[in-house]
Amino acid sequence: MTTNESAVGEADWRRATELIRASDTLALACHVSPDGDALGSMLGLGLALARTGRKVVASFGDRVFAVPRLLRSLPGQHLLVEPPAYPAEPDLMITFDASTMERLGLLAPHAGKAGELVVIDHHVSNTRFGTVHLVDPAAASTTTVVEELVNRLGLPIDREVATCLYVGLVTDTGSFRHSITTPAAHAMAGRLLATGLRPEEIARELWDRSPFAYLRVLGTALGRATLEPGAAGGLGLVWTYVSRADRAAEGLPYDEVEGMIDVVRRVDEAEVAVVLKEDDEGGWNVSTRSKGAVDVARACAALGGGGHPRAAGFSSALSVADTMAALRPLLAPEGSPS
Ligand code: 5GP
Ligand code: MN
Repeated sequence: MTTNESAVGEADWRRATELIRASDTLALACHVSPDGDALGSMLGLGLALARTGRKVVASFGDRVFAVPRLLRSLPGQHLLVEPPAYPAEPDLMITFDASTMERLGLLAPHAGKAGELVVIDHHVSNTRFGTVHLVDPAAASTTTVVEELVNRLGLPIDREVATCLYVGLVTDTGSFRHSITTPAAHAMAGRLLATGLRPEEIARELWDRSPFAYLRVLGTALGRATLEPGAAGGLGLVWTYVSRADRAAEGLPYDEVEGMIDVVRRVDEAEVAVVLKEDDEGGWNVSTRSKGAVDVARACAALGGGGHPRAAGFSSALSVADTMAALRPLLAPEGSPS
């Protein structure tokens, strides 16, 4: 894919705004196990549209439908419906932060049957599975693309809409620490802050609180962290796992361990960090991070997942050892023979 192909063209902007303006009813969907950018972009646009009197339903296709605790204070939760209540063949469906149709989980068949499918995203790996594509890999977050769409629709961005968009921005820039932190990202934050949103309250909900049980489970997982200096082409790999038994011992829900990679990825001796997280059904969700020399999106794509070059993931039905055995050889630095 060339970069030209993935930039948002004027024709797509025009088509998207025409379709949305002409619709009384809209069906929104973000990727499974939604993070701040997925839910924030969906609820931000959903709220802006609901305020025009349109009927908006929003959902995500997880088998067990639950908004992660971190994101429960996001405005617009009243727009959410569970997958069984989602329209089977929506006239207009809009997807958020999903790079492939499969990332919609249970809602993928609905997208396949939608009359028009507007795909809003910022993953460079987006497969352009819709009829209209607002996909900008240069955007710091999917909420960045949504901000422009709301502006092009001529709709106001009030404090609640801004809160949703801000949560996506701070989540995907790692609080303005990642390389995607451009002047445009800070300028967007400035516009959103001017609506009166409370950054300290948002930050506390997202990162600065957890039940005591999290400390216990984190201790268990960190206690078994492994450093492999020879892996990742000699640049080093640090990894650990957190099983459902670990969580059950402390009564900790799955969503509380989603962000554990942010502790593990700080290790100086490792280019790549990996955390395997077992869900309540016994499947493993694998988070991977790199510091720039290894393209983890490519490694994860080879195992059926995807993401960004420095932050990606995949699901595995294999054991921890077998999953790591499959992943390890894929972690070669760019330009080196694997
Ligand atoms: P996280 O480790 O925070 O769950 O995910 C990091 C990045 O990888 C995010 O952009 C996320 O959307 C993407 N990602 C995580 N798991 C998967 C997966 O199973 N498939 C795909 N395509 N992307 C994933
Ligand atoms: Mn995103």
